Amino acid sequence: MPADRLVIAIDGPSGSGKSSTAREVARRLGLGYLDTGAMYRAVAVAFLDAGVAPSDTAAVIAATTNADIALSLNPDERWVRVNGRDVTAEIREPRTSANVSTVSTIPECRADLVARQRALMDAAPNGVVAEGRDITTVVYPDADLRLLLTASPEARLARREGELGGRVNQAELRDQVLRRDADDSKLVEFQTAADGVLLLDTSDLTFDQVVETVIDLAKERS
Ligand code: C5P
Repeated sequence: MPADRLVIAIDGPSGSGKSSTAREVARRLGLGYLDTGAMYRAVAVAFLDAGVAPSDTAAVIAATTNADIALSLNPDERWVRVNGRDVTAEIREPRTSANVSTVSTIPECRADLVARQRALMDAAPNGVVAEGRDITTVVYPDADLRLLLTASPEARLARREGELGGRVNQAELRDQVLRRDADDSKLVEFQTAADGVLLLDTSDLTFDQVVETVIDLAKERS
């Protein structure tokens, strides 16, 4: 790793605060920001667009490997395109959240997206803050700082509810947070920290406290 680059890898379940934390840390340190979940979500939109049934694994794999995904690495610009179409808003819709685990539980889809994620991270000029489920363990185990953000289920449900601004009911909310974490855990271990990965429980911390903790840890390592 060249001395002038910094790579921070952040994993955690939904509602742990990893996206907003990673984005703000990237902004303050002048680094790129990679939302790997947005790539899984973009592929979910692509296979649904193509009329592929979630049960048709071969077709989901084909839709993944053929998907032309472009996304912003600028923490101040939020956009995602798949197959030439802007899906920035659509990837956050409940229909996408409900289908994204289809993509993330197929090993061939993961392998394809992991390779693209590594390439994007290697190409970021000053370095990057990347967040997801397997960044510290699979995508970039040699990152300068590897963190697992956790929070209690209550805190995670409350945060996701706040993010969604009342657009979902309680059943959809639990599906988006707890059911999805259970599904996601089938192929990737992101609930306990792997060797060399620091655990940061954010349940009782403010957003600023989390961001400052991550920046302090990053400075110790740069
Ligand atoms: O982070 P976010 O909730 O947007 O991620 C959406 C979905 O993408 C997750 O529920 C998970 O299934 C998948 N994902 C993954 N590995 C990553 C990032 C996301 O499996 N690195």
